[in-house]
Parts: sequence; structure tokens; C-alpha cells
Amino acid sequence: MPKKVTLDKDLCISCGVCNAICPHVFDWDDDGKMKPLVDTVPAEHEDAALEAEAACPTGAIRIE
Ligand code: SF4
Repeated sequence: MPKKVTLDKDLCISCGVCNAICPHVFDWDDDGKMKPLVDTVPAEHEDAALEAEAACPTGAIRIE
């Protein structure tokens, strides 16, 4: 099953970790916070996206 990705911008502190780990799924938005580039995580990037979720210091990323 493809996994959905959501990102709570209110929790994002713009540390850049998720983009460094998984730039195909997370990128900077115009407001200086991070945004997901996709609604569902491409299978080939799932491992990196899950790693980014685990590494986010504020728990802003949800992949389910
Ligand atoms: S790892 Fe979390 S806090 Fe850091 S930029 Fe990404 S979403 Fe924001």
C-alpha cells in the first residue's frame, strides 16, 4: 500500500533534516518551512521518507 505523507508546518522549525535525508519527498516552501512534494510516497523513496519522519526533531512529519 502506498503511504501518505503529511507535514504539520506549525511544528516545523526549518532545521532542514528531512530535505537532507529525502529531497525527493521534502523541499522548502516559500515561507521558509518544509512542504511535502507528494501526497503519497513513491515506493523507491519510502525508506528515506520513513528515515526523515523518524529524524524530524519535532514530529512534524507523519507517514502512514
Ligand atoms: S525535519 Fe521536521 S522540523 Fe526539520 S525541516 Fe523537516 S519537517 Fe521541519
